[in-house]
Amino acid sequence: MFSLASKKSAKNKLLLKTESAWKGVGDAERKKIFDFAEGYKLFLDKGKTEREVITLIKRKAEELGFVPLEKARNLKPGDRVYAINKEKVAALAVVGSEPVESGVNMVTSHTDCPRVDLKQRPVYEDSETDLALFKTHYYGGVKKYQWVVVPLAVHGRVMRADGEPIDVSIGEADGDPVFMIPDLLPHLAKRLQGERKLFEGIKGEEMNVLIGGIPLKGDSKAPFKMMVLDILYKKYGIVEEDLISAELELVPNLRPRDVGLDRSMIGAYGQDDRACVYTSLSAICGLKKPKRTAIALFFDKEEIGSVGATGAQSAFLELFVCELDKKTGGGGSYASIKRALSNTRAISGDVDAGMDPSFKDVHETLNAARMGRGIVISKFGGAGGKGGSSDASAEFMHYVRTVFNRNKIPWQSAELGKVDEGGGGTVARFLASHNMEIVDCGPALLSMHSPFEVSSKIDIYYTYRAFLAFMGA
Ligand code: MN
Ligand code: MN
Repeated sequence: MFSLASKKSAKNKLLLKTESAWKGVGDAERKKIFDFAEGYKLFLDKGKTEREVITLIKRKAEELGFVPLEKARNLKPGDRVYAINKEKVAALAVVGSEPVESGVNMVTSHTDCPRVDLKQRPVYEDSETDLALFKTHYYGGVKKYQWVVVPLAVHGRVMRADGEPIDVSIGEADGDPVFMIPDLLPHLAKRLQGERKLFEGIKGEEMNVLIGGIPLKGDSKAPFKMMVLDILYKKYGIVEEDLISAELELVPNLRPRDVGLDRSMIGAYGQDDRACVYTSLSAICGLKKPKRTAIALFFDKEEIGSVGATGAQSAFLELFVCELDKKTGGGGSYASIKRALSNTRAISGDVDAGMDPSFKDVHETLNAARMGRGIVISKFGGAGGKGGSSDASAEFMHYVRTVFNRNKIPWQSAELGKVDEGGGGTVARFLASHNMEIVDCGPALLSMHSPFEVSSKIDIYYTYRAFLAFMGA
């Protein structure tokens, strides 16, 4: 039989604590939280594409003593290694004192974000309006109407005919021109857009980007398009065919900013999922000599289903673990890699939906995430009766909450919206197929997948602390 001493202890003991993590934060802790947010904002500002984020990760890793795994020999506990895959995926590891085969502690995140990509033949001229434009094809789950009339920058890589990779970034530096997708003025929008459903307010083929309005001198048939091609050639040596072998992304050029009079929140593009990229990167960089080997993995292509060579379903993880096993004295055999992955404990670091005060109806309040209540643990995702979800076990949920509680990490349990309201997936289900224990954890966001997503500074800070505790456990 269990018994309680008093009514007061009953309240303290029986009820799950659910309150703002800001309560009881002292001046010193508040400073730590706010200072951490400054580094995060800088990271968001410098890393606008998956390639740029990988460059930032590599730079920070090298500064902090991580060496390329391919060059490493006879790794000892505490040694730090990294590997990069196709400039879009990275893995960082801190070698533990236990063999790799007995499993690693892993935190994954994704470097890609919803955005607007240029088509492979993007440049065209609308001769009736005397304008040159880019055709686009959006990437990931965007509400298209949110991406018009926002200043946009172009980032990416063009492979020129001579094989030279050209990295492009236009619209970020002070004085750079920006781009934008125009929308109809309200005066003339009533018939055309007034009758459309909100999601169809802007259609995919209407996401055309303004790039020019001066004709090139001469008797060209398409002088406005020619002007744009002329500028691209003069600046980069790029011709139209080169754009076929290019990955050019339009991203908001909005600077990360504090949101609110109390500056409690951060507004920025790309927080899904660079919130978990930055926090897991900071965590693994702060790890000294863990018992179990710790890995931070940064995947691409999560927003379109974790597919392809740089998605979470690729063979990269197995290859990395194999090399790591061999270089730490293991056999690197098929069986030992499978054992290492089977014994792995993982957090799929990804953001969750914070309850929106104006749209509470899509949430079920008992199981919805709140801004500022700490890292969210989501036992499952999916849609239509948990369909397509990796459902973490009771045992692993126990393990994770125990680690968080032991380290005084504020956390909350939540699921994405009401039953049958919608849903979503993460990399968890793909990694779980390696037979590892995995659960989704990360900060809640408002306006997820928009050009300006919002997080709470305390959630970002405690996501970092949670990942650090998990990796070192
Ligand atoms: Mn995500
Ligand atoms: Mn997403």
